[in-house]
Amino acid sequence: MNATSLPDAFQRDPHATPGPDSVWFVFDGHCLILTAQQDLPTGPAAPLPVTDMSGLGSLDGQSMFTAALDGDLPGGYVSVPVRSAFGTLGDTLMGVAGYASQILDFHRTHRYCGRCATPMQDSAHERSRVCPNCGLTAYPRVAPVAMVLITRGHGPDTELLLARGPNFPPGMYSAVAGFVEPSETLEAAAHREISEELGVTITDLRYAFSQPWPFPHSLMIGFMARYRAGEITPQPGEIEDARFFPVTDLPTLPPRFSIARALIDQAAQDALKP
Ligand SMILES: [Zn+2]
Repeated sequence: MNATSLPDAFQRDPHATPGPDSVWFVFDGHCLILTAQQDLPTGPAAPLPVTDMSGLGSLDGQSMFTAALDGDLPGGYVSVPVRSAFGTLGDTLMGVAGYASQILDFHRTHRYCGRCATPMQDSAHERSRVCPNCGLTAYPRVAPVAMVLITRGHGPDTELLLARGPNFPPGMYSAVAGFVEPSETLEAAAHREISEELGVTITDLRYAFSQPWPFPHSLMIGFMARYRAGEITPQPGEIEDARFFPVTDLPTLPPRFSIARALIDQAAQDALKP
C-alpha cells in the first residue's frame, strides 16, 4: 500500500452499520473535518450535522463512514484541506480518507440517472447506483493516468527528463503524465503523452508501479522509459519548461507521498547504486 491507497486489511462494505467506535470521514467541500485534537470524529452516529452518508467498510473491527457536512461547522472541529492532513493522520487513515472522498463524490454526482433522470438507488449487493426505471447501473469512476519518467545515460552520469507545468510551485519539476483516452492501451497513452507534451520519442517503456490519486478519482500508472530521439519541444500551455537534469543535481521535486517522487527516487537509486 501507499499513502493514497486503501490499507490491505480494510474490508469494503457499503452496508456497514455504525457502532460506538465508528470513525467518520466528514468532508466540507475539499476539506476533511477533524476534532480540535486533530483526530477523526468517532461515535455511533455522525457527531455533527451531515448529509449523503455512506458506509465504507471496516478496519480492525472499526466501522467507517463518509458524509458531507450539512450547514456550518460546529465549534470543537477544524476543517483542513485533505492533502494537508497527510502529516496529521498517517498513511493508513489517509488511505481510507482518499477512498471516503471518492465514495462521497460518487454519491453526490449520481443522484439522478444520466439516461432518464430518475433518482438513483444504492445497489443491494455491490458498490453501485442503479436506476429503478431504466436499469442503468453506475460505478465509482476511476480515471487512468499514465506517468512516464524518462532517463538517459548510465550510472552516475544518468540524466532525468523532468518538466514543469504552469501551475507548479516555483522551481519544481516532475515526470510527465496524461489521461488515458478511450480505446487506448496504457503503453500507447504513455508514448502519445511524451510525444505531445515533450516532442521526443522513448524506448524500453517498463511498468514500475501504480498509485490511486483520489483528487478527485485518478489511478496513476507509473512507467520508466529511456530517451530515444528528438529535440525537447514543450507543448504550449501544458509544459512551461522541460530539460534533462543530472541525477546528482536534481531540482525541487514533488512531495514524498506522490508517485512522481517515487519514480524519481527509484531512478536515482538505480543510477547511483554501487
Ligand atoms: Zn434511468
